Amino acid sequence: MLVPSNAHEPFHSSSDAERFIQAALDALSAHIALLDENATIIAVNQAWRDFADCNGLPRSSAYGLGKNYLEVCDSASWHNSDEAPLVALGLRDVMRGVLNDFELEYPCHSPTQQRWFVARVSRFEWDGHPRLIVAHQNVTELKLIQQALSQSQRRIEAILNNVNNGIITVDPLGIIRTANRAAARIFGYDDGELVGLPLMRLLGGEFRGAETFRQLNGELGHELRVHRADGRTVPIYFSLNELRLDDGSVYTCIIQDITYRKQMEEYVIEQERMRLALEKERDMRALKNRFLSMMSHELRTPLASISLSYDMLKKYGSISTPEEREQALDNIQVQVNLLKEMIGDVMTLSRGDSEGFQIAAEGCDLITYCRDVLEEFQFHYHHTHRVEFECDLPKLRAEIDRKLLRRALTNLISNAIKYSPRGGLVLFRLSREADQAVIEIRDEGIGIPPEDQARLFEPFYRARNTDSIPGTGLGLAITRQMVELHNGTLSFVSRVGVGTSFIIQLPLRQPPLHLFQG
Ligand code: ADP
Repeated sequence: MLVPSNAHEPFHSSSDAERFIQAALDALSAHIALLDENATIIAVNQAWRDFADCNGLPRSSAYGLGKNYLEVCDSASWHNSDEAPLVALGLRDVMRGVLNDFELEYPCHSPTQQRWFVARVSRFEWDGHPRLIVAHQNVTELKLIQQALSQSQRRIEAILNNVNNGIITVDPLGIIRTANRAAARIFGYDDGELVGLPLMRLLGGEFRGAETFRQLNGELGHELRVHRADGRTVPIYFSLNELRLDDGSVYTCIIQDITYRKQMEEYVIEQERMRLALEKERDMRALKNRFLSMMSHELRTPLASISLSYDMLKKYGSISTPEEREQALDNIQVQVNLLKEMIGDVMTLSRGDSEGFQIAAEGCDLITYCRDVLEEFQFHYHHTHRVEFECDLPKLRAEIDRKLLRRALTNLISNAIKYSPRGGLVLFRLSREADQAVIEIRDEGIGIPPEDQARLFEPFYRARNTDSIPGTGLGLAITRQMVELHNGTLSFVSRVGVGTSFIIQLPLRQPPLHLFQG
């Protein structure tokens, strides 16, 4: 209940209004004192009195009633507070009309509890007299909540500022609202300088509202190259996600400086490039070595034979029979042809690699054509091998370059004979699969070791089981070139000691005349 002073009688104790005000003030939790125009305390509320009682103020002080509040403040040791003179200052300003009201938060700790109060001073008129109200509100709970909040905010800021990734929040208008230290560092700004800038200015794009966010949104993110404040460009990984809050959306952007990653990627690509270059160089060296070893083996034999025949003719020509002379000359001729053939093979391969071949395909019956090619072998090898032809079709029309395909087929047939024992069967099968001719040349020969199969089409490459059998390692490389000129494929299956099957798949129709670059 409001307690009126003796000196002044501001209220008619019987009036309803006064009772109402007393009751209302008593119901408030703030400690309230009513002052006259000289700052004399003329009334206090229940909370004021309770506070005085609780804090051990002597009852003789009559809760300050009749005392001048300014003097109380000026001489204050109240609440051990340094703020009392400030409250007095504010009170004076309000009394002089410099301020309408005044407010100050101050600590007011008890030996057992930390407390904070807010003092409020305001003026009003009562019955034509100026009056002042001083209210002290305990705001400890609010203060503690505020403290906890700002502590957790500081903790979050500390975490955000210590992560390496840039974290930015953007409002729906594309303006940066918060940015951590890493974000500022990535873009070359000082702490706090990013706030208020349009995001798209940093990303170097155009902001088209929600559409831009839709484009940037997504789990995968984007790799971008952006300009820093100092003009340098930096590669970043950027991802944006919408965060729906009660009062609208914000967009969180995670930014990662990927300079190091990019450098590593470039380094890896460079390493790979170098590795491939080295590999190519190694392959070239191996090719050269194979070429040289083929030359030394395969050229030496016919040359030695030519030399032998020549010596025989020179030394014993006059005493030898015409048949012996004829035989020596024939041998020279055969060996020269062999050498010519070998040189021709090397030339064919290198021409295919550099200039390419022109294929002149013409329509013909493939069955008749294959029979013709095979006939020559049947004639020459009928004593040593069984060379057989198999085809269930009456006719098979195909477009081929007769000369080039003959080269491929004769290589495969002569290999089948060369790598088979005497009496072995060499089977030439011709069939059709959809719009392709399938030619299979199968033998019962030595087979190809699995370790050599992958490299068999490389020029000069020979399998390890061919030591005693002469050869250059060029035939298959040339054969494949010829088959591919016809847009066909060449493959094989082989088992050591069982035999080998080479298979050509050949389109029956060729596209119009074209140049093949090997
Ligand atoms: P070469 O002049 O050595 O016969 P090719 O290029 O024609 O050269 O063949 C390459 C290698 O493939 C041969 O050296 C041989 O090891 C293997 N090869 C080819 N055809 C056969 C086959 N029918 N049977 C077994 N090995 C074969």
